[in-house]
Formats: sequence, C-alpha cells, structure tokens
Amino acid sequence: MQIASLLPGSCCDCMKPAAAVTLRQMQTAYIGMGANLPSTAGAPEATLAAAAQRLAALGRVAARSHLYSTEPVGFRDQPRFVNAVMALETEMPPRELLERLLAIEREFGRDRSAGIPNGPRTLDLDILLYGDWKISEAGLEVPHPRLAERGFVLVPLNEIAPEICDPRTGLAVAQLLGRLFPDSKGVSNAVYWLESDDWRAGADLGAGLGRS
Ligand code: ADP
Ligand code: MG
Repeated sequence: MQIASLLPGSCCDCMKPAAAVTLRQMQTAYIGMGANLPSTAGAPEATLAAAAQRLAALGRVAARSHLYSTEPVGFRDQPRFVNAVMALETEMPPRELLERLLAIEREFGRDRSAGIPNGPRTLDLDILLYGDWKISEAGLEVPHPRLAERGFVLVPLNEIAPEICDPRTGLAVAQLLGRLFPDSKGVSNAVYWLESDDWRAGADLGAGLGRS
C-alpha cells in the first residue's frame, strides 16, 4: 500500500500529503477593517475596536494601524467610512480565517442579502494578504483583488507594513500607494487620521498603534 493513501488529505496524483491538512504554519495575515453604519457595539469606531478584540482571538496581533476616516469609493452617496488594518500572526488556514471573519461581520449586524456592492455596512473584514500566498478559489482571492486600487486599504497598510510585498504585482505596499496617489495632495481628503479613544484603548491587544 502506498504511504500516501494512509495520510488524511493526501492528493491522489502526486503522493505528497496536502500541506494545508498536515502542516499548520504560522503566517502573517493583514486584515482590512471598515464600517460606516452603527452596529450593536455603537458607532463605527466602537465597532472596529470591538471587532479587533474578536480578531485577537484568532492569532497574535502583531501590529495595528490608526483609524482613518475615508471617502466612500464607487457608491458615493453614503457616510464616510472608518478603516484600519491589523497584522495577525496565525496558524489558521486562509479559508477558515475567512469563515471566522464573515462570522464576526454577521455578529456585528452585516447583512449581505440587503447590501449593495460598495454600499454602507456595519462591518467589513477582508483578508488583504496572507503571507506571500496567492489564492484564487470560489469566494476567496488573496491578495484581496482590489487591494492595489483602494486608498482606504493602502494608507493604513502602509502605516504598519510599507515594505511588505504584494505577491501578485511583486511591488511593495509603499510602491502601490505611490502609484495610486502620485500626487500626495490627492490622499489628504480621501483618507485621513481619526483619533478615537475606543481604538486607542485596545492596549490589551498586545500591539500599540503604528508599526510593530
Ligand atoms: P468588499 O470587501 O470587496 O467590499 P464584500 O465585503 O461584499 O466586498 O465581499 C464579497 C465577497 O468577497 C465575500 O463574500 C467573500 O467571500 C469574497 N472574498 C473573496 N476574497 C476575499 C478576501 N480576500 N477577503 C474577504 N472576502 C473575500
Ligand atoms: Mg469584504
């Protein structure tokens, strides 16, 4: 009998056990967070602070950006968003991580059936990057497919990880940001810092604000 057939998750045609089943490797996942409607936790700032506590249960928080007030993109007739990015060191495989993020969104009142694309939402949690992995599956694409075109993602991501590489383009986050906003004035109204006691108070998360 072939050894591969004894291993759970072995693939039938290559004798190698499927890595996701047999090996759990620590990776750094960058999670994009956004909200522009109140939730059961309160205003968007409070929702993001409460969601950060949930994320901390999925791994180790290595860094978190400040909060940013951002202009809506796509569908403009809605309140400004509050956005942030967190770096999470985790052994959780990406599909499981996505399922946990979607469950946290639902906990804070996200209702996709009633939503419109790019429309108002109580909470949005996205996997922006997962180590240097590239994933293209039904319902899961990593790096996030719209990473390079969203200032509200790139500005907070650049705050905590300017040198990290987007494996799809081979460009660092700081380069992607420079491409999106060649003129630094363009970014100032679209995305700016937001002071929030709720967010600042999360010292127990293990990472202060800004770079780790
Ligand atoms: P967006 O976050 O781009 O504004 P949505 O929050 O409405 O869009 O997400 C729509 C779907 O995108 C989700 O149901 C999820 O399955 C899928 N998706 C694909 N890749 C990712 C990813 N990397 N992170 C989060 N969701 C993703
Ligand atoms: Mg999303």
